[in-house]
Amino acid sequence: MQPDRIESVTTFKERLAPIEERICEACGRAGRAREEVRLMAVSKLHPAPAIAEAVEAGVTLFGENRVQEFECKRVDLGGLAADIDVHLIGHLQSNKSAKAAELFSAIDTLDSLRLAERLNDAAGKLGRGLPVLIEIKLSDEAAKTGLDPTGREIEDLLARMPSLTNLSVRGLMTVPPFDGNPDTARHCFRELRKLRDELFARHPGLDFGELSMGMSGDFEIAIEEGSTVVRIGTALFGGRGAKA
Ligand SMILES: *Cc1c(COP(=O)(O)O)cnc(C)c1O
Repeated sequence: MQPDRIESVTTFKERLAPIEERICEACGRAGRAREEVRLMAVSKLHPAPAIAEAVEAGVTLFGENRVQEFECKRVDLGGLAADIDVHLIGHLQSNKSAKAAELFSAIDTLDSLRLAERLNDAAGKLGRGLPVLIEIKLSDEAAKTGLDPTGREIEDLLARMPSLTNLSVRGLMTVPPFDGNPDTARHCFRELRKLRDELFARHPGLDFGELSMGMSGDFEIAIEEGSTVVRIGTALFGGRGAKA
């Protein structure tokens, strides 16, 4: 693989077409309609012109993983920023809540009660509602963020959620361990979906419709297991070099 070379000879549109086809085929295998799965283009570490090219190809939903990085890119995007939805998909430190609530249309990595409270305050000050996904950690990797699905904090968070009136829970998000084994990913995706169904049953007042799971290497498996939004970076934008 020579991603740099591939990038120089293909356009975003040319990379999008086969991905779109694979999404359609995975939906077909799972007996799902194509409309049930949204494509999020993960533009982290790619500059604003790359986002503009994706918008040109019809993409409207983007994922970014750093507050500061997107703050700069948004300036470069100018008026285009108003036409797209950009979600934060990277870990958010609670001291950056105010900036994040201002920059992003949704936060897909809510992973603590403290962060929920900070985001709720920030959204309140801006007079806006902020959709969130709860990030779940389904493996015991020390470096990974996300809430333990069997822990106390997720219960505390869900109990508190109805009173955090500026936040609206939309569902769950996870990143499986990177061991290159498709069975590990499938197992995680299945666990996330099961957890979603359990939480739905226990908290009928909250919305858990969204399952954000699946990346370049495993999005078809994720779709087969019920994903409603796949987050695709490398397969659409090319490599991010050694930085990611
Ligand atoms: C970078 C990233 C992606 C995209 O990963 P690719 O393998 O490049 O498709 C998806 N989700 C999260 C949370 C990421 O940080």
